[in-house]
Amino acid sequence: MPAKHDHHHVTHHGAGLVAAAQTALEASGEQWTRMRAAVFEALAGFDRPASAYDIAEAVSNAEGRRVAANSVYRILDLFTASNVARRVESANAYIANRHPDCLHDCIFLVCDNCGQTTHIDDDTVTQAVRSAATAKGFSPERPVIEVRGLCGDCA
Ligand SMILES: [Zn+2]
Ligand SMILES: [Zn+2]
Repeated sequence: MPAKHDHHHVTHHGAGLVAAAQTALEASGEQWTRMRAAVFEALAGFDRPASAYDIAEAVSNAEGRRVAANSVYRILDLFTASNVARRVESANAYIANRHPDCLHDCIFLVCDNCGQTTHIDDDTVTQAVRSAATAKGFSPERPVIEVRGLCGDCA
């Protein structure tokens, strides 16, 4: 279970995000291979959750060779296990974790119209969900909190 923390964690962008992802993956004992870097950069380039197929296509275009969705899927699995990517369940797709150095219950706001996904963190909300589950004798491992609706551009 992620530790409750009181610090303001850093959200990374661009090269800083790639470096933070590499550090987090290596900390989990995995290597930051060229293929994994390409998959992460493609994933981070989407402003909406991307499927293994979306990413395979983006990597194929960037690399100039065909990359199979299956190999991308295995890397995404590794990324979610090491906190480098998050799975957005209601979109059945993945998004780069903006704070790979910090384990956190993220909340995602997913636009029904354009798919744009905004990531927010609110410990008060997520701890309340965990406490409500615990009060029922349930051990919360991974709260999934996703809000569907319309983004600012589409509303
Ligand atoms: Zn978060
Ligand atoms: Zn929208």
